[in-house]
Formats: sequence, structure tokens, C-alpha cells
Amino acid sequence: MTESTTHAVAVVGAGPAGLFATRALAAAGCRVLLLNRDIKPGGLAEYGIFLNKYKMKGGLRRQFSKILTDPRVTYLGHVAVGESGPLSVPALRAAGFDAVVFAIGAQGTKYLGIEGERLPGVYHAKDLVYHYNRLPPFSDCECEEIIAVARRGPHEKAYDDREFEDVEDAFDREAYRREVERIRPRLEAAGQSADELLKALAARPEAEDRCRARLTFRFLASPQRVITEGGRVVGLEIEETRLERKGERISAVGTGEISRIPCDTVVFAVGDRVDESVGLPYREGLYVTAPGAEQDPAAAYQVWDPSQGQPLADVFVVGWARRASDGVVGRARLDAETGIKHILKVLGSRPTRAPAEAERPVTAIMHELGKAGARPVTYEEVLRIEAAERERARRDGVEEFKFASDEEMLALLSS
Ligand SMILES: Cc1cc2nc3c(=O)[nH]c(=O)nc-3n(C[C@H](O)[C@H](O)[C@H](O)COP(=O)(O)OP(=O)(O)OC[C@H]3O[C@@H](n4cnc5c(N)ncnc54)[C@H](O)[C@@H]3O)c2cc1C
Repeated sequence: MTESTTHAVAVVGAGPAGLFATRALAAAGCRVLLLNRDIKPGGLAEYGIFLNKYKMKGGLRRQFSKILTDPRVTYLGHVAVGESGPLSVPALRAAGFDAVVFAIGAQGTKYLGIEGERLPGVYHAKDLVYHYNRLPPFSDCECEEIIAVARRGPHEKAYDDREFEDVEDAFDREAYRREVERIRPRLEAAGQSADELLKALAARPEAEDRCRARLTFRFLASPQRVITEGGRVVGLEIEETRLERKGERISAVGTGEISRIPCDTVVFAVGDRVDESVGLPYREGLYVTAPGAEQDPAAAYQVWDPSQGQPLADVFVVGWARRASDGVVGRARLDAETGIKHILKVLGSRPTRAPAEAERPVTAIMHELGKAGARPVTYEEVLRIEAAERERARRDGVEEFKFASDEEMLALLSS
């Protein structure tokens, strides 16, 4: 690609993966149209990461702002691509971009498939976090007791010590000790040490401040059904499990013993899957990518149409859209940057265009959105919204204020 010629690329999704993908594409000289469902960019870095991590969020926002003010980049928020939005996947592809990169995260919800799982009073972890992130200022935890239910045992925990620090001040150490003793025979039957866990507990420093809430664990318990009475959640029915070793893997096997954990809210934190309604080939929680990634790593980013047995040559996925719920921002960024390296290689074998030609698909999308009656929000308009939020936070004397709905943000823009 020479200075005067370029490729035109659409990136769908402005979370960390989409933004870092955009940066890598723009740095390579591409003209980029970045479309985002939410009005504001940032994805889960804006609406997922815990709200009091101001420093981390601020740092990311500054990096994102640099990307979004690059003259090679046009940002349009409030544009959902897919069956339910103003722009379908075929319409986007028909605009004539050299590549379309989907970085739309893992918007779907995983369910265990148990009775009562979708009743009022039952939530998915992400819904809860979105809720908190929209309700500033978040004061303090209000639940009296949180019981973390896990099918397997403490040795199979999927969090690390740093992640646990965020909830340390609610952790009930004595209850944990009792729980380890309760399941000791089942741990030892699987060749695991209960004493090792108690030793690690003793070595853990006590939290300095106690939170009003109390966090306890219920290990070796497989959820069977959400119990309701008069339309309200009153408990979670669980089956006790034991651990079974299959090679390297430890799995939980039901013992047939059923018991009930009384509670008034159930939050499932069992992972995410991609949004199957978007209109990309989908299989078992993920978009389908080309086979043969072991020999050719680029295949893992190339969307594949199994009904035709061939790739959608111009369509790629990166970030959580490629591997649902896979790691933190740094990992989404690495995945996006690695994906773009492969995509640039593919583009290298395709003809470049003069800058005016690269504008054509961007103009075509603007036209398409106009026809569909959409109200895209530019990055300049996002900056206006953020300035109004900062002013409101200053007036209210809070660290951060965020408008809670699209309607409020759109009303501000039309005022
Ligand atoms: C509760 C929670 C807390 C977390 N805390 C941390 C933390 O403290 N530190 C850390 O490093 N990481 C944290 N993470 C992980 C981090 O948020 C992810 O690694 C990262 O956001 C994934 O980036 P992504 O761009 O792939 O997806 P997302 O961040 O999900 O971004 C997807 C983007 O795509 C857009 N989109 C979705 N569907 C469409 C569509 N159909 N059309 C157009 N646009 C669409 C969305 O609007 C969004 O902007 C947390 C995640 C969660 C869920």
C-alpha cells in the first residue's frame, strides 16, 4: 500500500477489541468506519469493569480518545449491526469494504437449563454489573449474605488472589473453614488436601475494613432448580456432588443428595456466549471460524460459512466475539492486534484504492442508515455528552455521573 492508496475497513463494536483493532488498522493506513451499538465507545471497559476503578477506566478512556480522533477513523455510535438493528450484516457487506471486522463481544447469556432460571429475581452477572455501572454513585454493598455456589471444589476455583481482593472485606473466613471441613471427606476421596486450603487461609491477611455484607461459599453443589413461592424466589435447590478425576480434568458428579439454599435472589455467573441473532454463522456459543487454525493461525479470525463450506472472505472476528469471556482488557487487545496482523496480510494480497474510492463504502453506510431512520452518534457528540456528565458530577459532588438511558443522551444532543 502506498501513501496515496488505501483499504477501507468497517469495524463493528467499539469495546477494547474493536478500538485496538481500529488503532492497528489506522496505523497501517486504512480508512476505518467504526460502528457501535452503544452510544458511547468502550464496551465492557465502560460498562463492565467495576465502577470504582476510576484510574483504570480513565486511562483506557484517554487511549480510546486518541484512537477516535484519528482523521482516518469515523465513529458512529447507536448503530447496532444485525437483524434487530438498522444495518444487517448483508447490507454492511454490500457497501463494499475490503474487510469487515466484528468485535462485538459476547453479548449472549449462557443458561444452565434448569427450572426457574428466567424468573424475576434471577439475574445474569453481567446484567447486575451493567445496572451498577449506570447508577452513580454506587455507595456500598447492601445484600446481607452472598453465597457463592460452585459445582466443584476450592481447588478448582477460577479466580486468582488479585481478583479476590475486591471482595476480601466481605469474606467470612470462619464459614469458609467450616465449609472446607464439611467437604473434607469428598476432597480427600479425590486425592485433594483440605489442610492445604486451611493453611492458605491462615496465611491470608485479615481484611482491614469489614463490609456489611457476608460472603460465604458452598462447594460441591450443582444447581437444580430455582424455588419460588408466590412469584418470589425463596431458594436454590442443589444436588451435592463429588469429585471425579478423568486424566488431568476434575469433574463434578451428582451424588443424588438434594438440599436447598434459602435466598431471595439468584445471580448466575456462568459465562457468556456470542449474540446468535446478529446473523453471522453460529455454533455452540461461538461464531464459526475457518478450520485449520493449528496449521494457519489466521484461520481462527476468518468467519466461515459451514452451509457453503467456505469462508466469508471479507468477514473476520476478534476479541470476545471470537472467544467469549476470554480474559481481561489486555487479552482482548492482544487478540485484536494479532487478528489485525493476519487481516492486513490478507488485505496485502488485494488491490488498494485511491482515498476517494475508500470513502465510497463509508458514504454508502451513511446513506443506508439515513434510509433506515437511524440516529448515529458521532464522536464529537459523545464528547458533548461526556462534558455534560462531568459538569453534572461536579455539581452533584460525585466522582462520576453517567446518563442512564439512550433517550437522555439523545435529548441532550438535540437540545
Ligand atoms: C463484569 C466484568 C468486569 C470486568 N472487569 C475487568 C477489569 O477490572 N479489568 C479488565 O482488564 N477487564 C475486565 N473485564 C474484561 C473486559 O471488560 C473484556 O476483556 C473486554 O471488554 C472485552 O472486549 P471486547 O471489545 O471483545 O468486548 P466488549 O467490551 O463487550 O465490547 C463489545 C462492543 O461491541 C458493541 N456491540 C455489541 N453488539 C453489537 C452489534 N450487534 N452491533 C454493533 N456493535 C455491537 C457493544 O456496544 C460494545 O461496545 C471485565 C468484564 C466483565 C464482564
